[in-house]
Parts: sequence; structure tokens; C-alpha cells
Amino acid sequence: MKVAKFGGTSVASAEQIKKVASIVAEDKERKIIVVSAPGKRSSDDTKVTDLLIQLGETLLKGEDTENELQAVLNRYEDIAEGLGLGKEIVATIEADLRERLQFDRNRPGACMDLIKASGEDNNAKLIAAYFQSIGLNATYLNPEDAGLFVSDEPGNAQVLPEAYEHLKALRDRDEIIVFPGFFGYSKEGSLVTFSRGGSDITGSILAAGVKADLYENFTDVDSVFAANPNIIDNPVKIKKMTYREMRELSYAGFSVFHDEALFPAFRNGIPVCVKNTNNPSSSGTMIIAEREYFMNPVIGIAADEGFATIYVRKYLMNREVGFGRKLLHILEDEGLSYEHMPSGIDDTSVILRQEQLTEEIEERVVARIQEELQVDDVYVERDFAMVMIVGEGMHNTIGISSRATAALTRANVNIEMINQGSSEVSLILGIHASDADRTVVELYHEFFGGAEETVQ
Ligand code: ASP
Repeated sequence: MKVAKFGGTSVASAEQIKKVASIVAEDKERKIIVVSAPGKRSSDDTKVTDLLIQLGETLLKGEDTENELQAVLNRYEDIAEGLGLGKEIVATIEADLRERLQFDRNRPGACMDLIKASGEDNNAKLIAAYFQSIGLNATYLNPEDAGLFVSDEPGNAQVLPEAYEHLKALRDRDEIIVFPGFFGYSKEGSLVTFSRGGSDITGSILAAGVKADLYENFTDVDSVFAANPNIIDNPVKIKKMTYREMRELSYAGFSVFHDEALFPAFRNGIPVCVKNTNNPSSSGTMIIAEREYFMNPVIGIAADEGFATIYVRKYLMNREVGFGRKLLHILEDEGLSYEHMPSGIDDTSVILRQEQLTEEIEERVVARIQEELQVDDVYVERDFAMVMIVGEGMHNTIGISSRATAALTRANVNIEMINQGSSEVSLILGIHASDADRTVVELYHEFFGGAEETVQ
């Protein structure tokens, strides 16, 4: 059996939902259908989840919510009308939303999650109703009834191990289950959402729970590309890639698949296929445990901006036992998570996402490093980008970094930092953010120039 997840653009309008229905109807193995909230219908549209966040914020400020509520209801009204469903379903959705708006405002995190999650929840009810109306044997299933238990961290739920035990039972149902993505329930019965884009996570958890033969992730592109199509014209389509390669690329901004979503599928060895709702006959990208590497050691090039570095220098740092621990302890104390820590002999740079580093935190961290570690120099620099060259085939392949650095020389880009773990699955180059696009173009030409399609 297959678990198929349809993202926001795939369920954004009646027309899109009709495509989803025919995809589901054409393959009997598509038994569990996970849906997002209605997403954007065009590039200047607003996702229902974002409308719901505005609704939640208005509620929490204690202001009148009627306009925001209406904006959400309009989307469902349009969809229901386009699908030929009666007024009843919209009335049910309205009643549901009004009830959610009564929730205790003194629990803002839980209140926001309850409102946010209504996007997928109501869409799943609507889609199940449509499936039934066209004769599919389908039913809506609530994550609480299915036993999808998660930790009680609003906006950042983590699945609890026992959830998988409960979800196993869904394998025996002989109807199509329409399941809302993006949220589960705590053991105490609170609704909790995953991080943004988390319907991918729901799909992966369900696929792992029922031990699906395949987890299909339907989106609005034909495949995962070897580089960002907004930077490279018509980039190479990736046919097969490994979980680790996908993980590395989603870390650096490949937004096709949520990085947390890979884990349940990976741990249970469930193959993932990224496919296009608007072009379902295209084979898409398979994400699997292993591929053959000899044809293309490098699978993709990605770049992500918004990094800062804390540079620290102290004479004889290399001999000072505990220096690294004390440095990281200061970051831990300040609630900062770091990404990389390339080091010299007497200096080290801690690279982190700069959105965490407010001016106030920066001042405090710099002062503490100065005082507590008695360093010779410490300062923060911002606006770095991390460019990643990813590919499991790089392991033991000679010459990849020389080709990469030659490409950067041609692009006249200074490398501020180089990082490569011994697994050699990725080579990370720290550069100034303003050089990022140029760098990706040059690296792409170096590693994919002339290639028509990635074959393994
Ligand atoms: N609707 C949610 C979001 O926009 C979750 C998802 O679509 O995966 O973040």
C-alpha cells in the first residue's frame, strides 16, 4: 500500500482537488491520503495557514476576528462550490472555527496551534466529502482517533514512539483514509502542530506506522532538481537520491521536502517519491537508502543565507583543556544552537543562524566570551551564506574540492570557510551572502554542465 501526501498547492482550489481525486482513484494502493491546508493558487495568493495565523493573532490581541474569519471561510466556500458540494460542509467548517475561537486565550501557544491546524483538519473533511460524492469509499480520520501522539511543544511537536503502534492498525482498513497533515495530540489531549510545512512529517509518520511500500509526496514540481530553478535555468532533474543527500540538501534550503520528514521514512526503510500533482505521469524523484554513485558523485548544489559567525582567537587555544566546552556552554546558556565550528590552531569560528542572534544577545555573548575565556579577540560577522555540494559518491572520489575551489576562483569569490565531515557526503563552503547566486551558477556548471538528466 501507498501513503500519498498532497501539499498546499495540490489542494488549493476545486480544480486542484479534482486532480488529486483522479490520482487517488487511478491506483488502488493509494490507501492513506494526507492533505495540507489550501495553499497558494498563484504567486501573490495567501496560504490558508497564513490567514489562520492572522486570525489567531487577532484573537490573542483581543480584537474582533470577523474579517479574518471571513477570509478563511471564503477559501472553503470557493472550493466547496467548485466541487459541487452543498452549503452544509461550509457551515460545518464555520461552526468548527467559531468553536476554536472560544479556546482559552491564556494558553496562547495551544490556542494558536488549534487555530492553525484547522486548515488541514477542515480541508481533510472537505476532501473526504468530495471523494464520497464521486463514489470513492473514503473517510476522514482525526489524528487523535488514529493515536498520532506527539510531544506537547506548540509549533514544534515531535512524534512519540507509541504513535507508531497505534497507526499500525490503519493498514487493515479497507477504505481510503483522508488524514489531515501538520498536527497530532499530546497524551493530555491537546492539539499540537509540527513545525511549518509539517504535513510532510505526518505523511512520513503514517507511512512508517503502516509500513507502506511507498510514501508519495505530491507537490507542484516534477522532481527534485540539482539546483534551485530560480537561479539555474532548467536544472537537471534528480531521478534517484539517498535519504542523506535529501537531508543535506533540505538543510541548505531545498524546500521540496521538510527535513524532519525524512527521519521516520528513513528509519523504517520506506522509499519516498516526490511527484507532481499537475503532471502525475512524470516519474518524479525517488529517495532511497542507496544509489549507484559512479555516474554522478555529486547530486546537487544548494545555498542558504542568513548565517553569522562568532570568531574567537586565543594564543595556545589548542592546549587549553575544556576551551571548546566552555565556549559552547556560553552558547547553550543563551539558548543558541550552532551549525558548524571550523577551527584553526589558536582560533575557532562558531557559525550559527543569525536570526537567533539579536543585538542584545550578541553583546552579551561577546562580553561573556571575553571575560570568561580571556580570549585575545572575539567578534561577530553577519550575512554569510553556506553553499553545499552534496553527493554520497564524493566519498573517496579524488578531486571534488579542487574542482569546487577552481569554480569559485573563476567566479572571483572568496572562501571564508570550508567544512567537510569524514562521511564526505557534503562539502560546505562559507562565503559572503552577496556572492551566493554567482557561486551556485559556477558550481552547477562545473558539476552538471552539459548533463541532461541525472541518471544513476
Ligand atoms: N499548512 C502548513 C504550513 O503551511 C503545513 C503544510 O502545509 O505542510 O506550514
